[in-house]
Amino acid sequence: MSERKVLTKYYPPDFDPSKIARTPKHLRPTGPKTIPVRLMAPFSMKCTSCGEYIYKGRKFNARKETTDEKYLAITIYRFYIRCTRCSSEITFKTDPKNMDYTCERGAKRNFESWRDSDSAELKETDEQRLDRLEREEADEAETAERNAMEELEQKMEESKREMQVADALDEIMQRNARIERGEKGVKEDQALSQVRDLAREQREAEERADAEAARKAFEAANVERARLEEDAKLQAQHASKLLDSPAESPPAPTFDRVKKFKKPLVPGLVRKTEPAVQPPQPAVVSKPAGLDLGDYDSDDD
Ligand SMILES: [Zn+2]
Repeated sequence: MSERKVLTKYYPPDFDPSKIARTPKHLRPTGPKTIPVRLMAPFSMKCTSCGEYIYKGRKFNARKETTDEKYLAITIYRFYIRCTRCSSEITFKTDPKNMDYTCERGAKRNFESWRDSDSAELKETDEQRLDRLEREEADEAETAERNAMEELEQKMEESKREMQVADALDEIMQRNARIERGEKGVKEDQALSQVRDLAREQREAEERADAEAARKAFEAANVERARLEEDAKLQAQHASKLLDSPAESPPAPTFDRVKKFKKPLVPGLVRKTEPAVQPPQPAVVSKPAGLDLGDYDSDDD
């Protein structure tokens, strides 16, 4: 068993490697390299030698060959298959320009109505194609921008319409309210203006009430302040009095009714406050009752 594990091989002195008939793989002359692959027929075709139809999707053991052709740095491959009936060789290539395959030899591609051979897209040159792609990209960017603007405009329009709808609804509600109040028969415009006037009056009344409340509040604040000041003054007086006569107790608070100074009901009309020395007015007494109106003419007395 030891010979199984030999580390060196014995070459006799008369060994001549050139006499070995079979050349090793890496020394053999290389043609176009082909790889066996499994593929499906990419299009329907008809064998030119026997007329057999080979439909799209039929599976084949094929050879794949890398050609020297290129389209925009994309390698083009060639495939070799054999006819299923006569075994004649059929070849087709990839067509990256049209994202398709082209039948090369041994078969004829079936007519497909969606592939218009006269179409401009199939005929255009690389330059034209590049131009077209660039143009399309620019167009796309432009449309995106325009779409954003359109969206904005649409939004604005929508908000405007919403406001209009709200206004119309308001008007309708006002009209309904008027109708409910039984103001039919009046001209609509008049009624509407009336309703608006009412609303305005209501608003004004509310504003007036607010102003009044504010005024009162301020007045109350003033009164409070005045009262506080008065209190402070009184306290100061009291303190001084206490200093003068500490024994004297403060006067007890009285709950007597304090006579308030009556405000004149109407400004300018003041009742005279010397009723004790009421001078007799014989002229007035002697006047006949029917001529009482003359009293208004006070300048004459
Ligand atoms: Zn055939």
